[in-house]
Amino acid sequence: MKEVLKDIDRKLLKSLSGSETVSFYNTRTRAHEVFHPKQEGKVGLYVCGPTVYAYPHIGNMRAYFFADTLRRGLELCGYDVNHVMNITDVGHLTDDGDDGEDKLEVGARKEGVSAWDIAKKYEKYFFQEVGLLNILTPKIVCRATEHIEQQVDMVQKLDNQGFTYTTSDGVYFDTTKFPKYGDFAKLNKEGMQAGLRVDMGEKKNLQDFALWKFSKPEDKRAMEWDSPWGRGFPGWHIECSAMASHYLGDQFDIHTGGVDHIQVHHTNEIAQAECATSKAPFVNVWLHSEWLILDDGTKKMGKSLGNIICVNDLKKDGIPPDALRYLFLQAHYRKQLLFKKENLAASCKAVKRLLSITSSWDAEKGDFQKEVFDVCLKKMLSSVCNDLNTPQVLAQLWELVENDSVSISTKMKLRPYYAWFLGLKLDAVLEDCSDKASVPQEVFGLMDQRKQYRAEKNWDAADKVRSQLDSLGYEVCDSPEGPVARKKSFIE
Ligand code: AMP
Ligand code: ZN
Repeated sequence: MKEVLKDIDRKLLKSLSGSETVSFYNTRTRAHEVFHPKQEGKVGLYVCGPTVYAYPHIGNMRAYFFADTLRRGLELCGYDVNHVMNITDVGHLTDDGDDGEDKLEVGARKEGVSAWDIAKKYEKYFFQEVGLLNILTPKIVCRATEHIEQQVDMVQKLDNQGFTYTTSDGVYFDTTKFPKYGDFAKLNKEGMQAGLRVDMGEKKNLQDFALWKFSKPEDKRAMEWDSPWGRGFPGWHIECSAMASHYLGDQFDIHTGGVDHIQVHHTNEIAQAECATSKAPFVNVWLHSEWLILDDGTKKMGKSLGNIICVNDLKKDGIPPDALRYLFLQAHYRKQLLFKKENLAASCKAVKRLLSITSSWDAEKGDFQKEVFDVCLKKMLSSVCNDLNTPQVLAQLWELVENDSVSISTKMKLRPYYAWFLGLKLDAVLEDCSDKASVPQEVFGLMDQRKQYRAEKNWDAADKVRSQLDSLGYEVCDSPEGPVARKKSFIE
């Protein structure tokens, strides 16, 4: 995406998008609303991230593709997006509630390694998969296990204010203490309680949920910590409330996740955060992406259902990741998407044709048509601003491609804007699918060179390598494993 970085005219975008209002369908209000950030020009965005206990599948990818599209769209409209994503590496139980085992510990037993190794392995794989789909790395990636202090702190605040009770297996949130509980998901609390058929154990109410679970000695957990209530580990929901408010403040702009999170996970995040901070709303705009479903229209794809397909599997089948991205782009994020091999094959054909045309454009051909350029860009921004209408933007790009009255030099000037929002490398022919990583080999070589120079304390040479990486569109970031190269966002 080197071209995107240098060829986008941010000033022009600002002037064109100035008259546009960004609007989204907000789950919190169930209405299509104009977006007003808390701070002019800035957006705090929290994305519910992966649970790293198994290979992430293309259904999961749809959720991160959506968050990526949102960030790209907001950046195109001139916002500086502070994009935060968590990694759930502890506490997500097999039944998604408060029973069952920690998915990480189950994964560890299955593979005969520690839960820490499981988390490391699948987090790495996750970033490889999103990289293949050209999904930008969030600015802050935060692991639950590295934020135990913030989670204990939030539970303590809830405890101090009387929102909790303790059972023999953990500390629970008492949902009856938060009268608004369930409003977000439009839960019928009374109905659910009356028709109760499940074993609640020591829980006082059906919807109450664990904030902190005690370790059972027989479980021999690899991941456990001391807390004021006893040794154990955090409940799944507390990590998102605690880390989101740690990085973005007690109240922030946008939170995303799959539609499955509305009912429980996000409902609980709201309860915890609003009760701990006494501020509401916790999040202004909640955006939820719809499900990717399997061919017969009824089946879900799920890690626990054992019917998953990964981007890498497709790649091994000769299907380039861009074909999947193209398939995702064709559906609005709030519509279910049927995954069929035939649909994917059609996307593959279409994206190959598209890229073979757009990459052949040559700036020398024809005069630049400024008015056409402005009209096209404005139309595109309108669709972006209107709840991220990716199918519309894709259709506009095809219209442009097929319109012979628009000069090639005009088309070429428009190309980076479409490339940015759609996340497609429109300036390159789609290569035949191979096992090449999405980060070019050259970048790895430069990273090694820089490491060597730094070891020799040759700071000038190391800085020069950093500039070379910069011109390739990569920046050097710190990570627990040492410096890594990260694809840059054009806004940075
Ligand atoms: P998990 O790693 O299981 O916590 O899920 C990560 C994200 O993927 C969540 O936002 C889910 O809502 C989303 N997700 C899981 N399965 C699907 C699917 N089949 N289609 C779309 N999104 C999904
Ligand atoms: Zn979450």
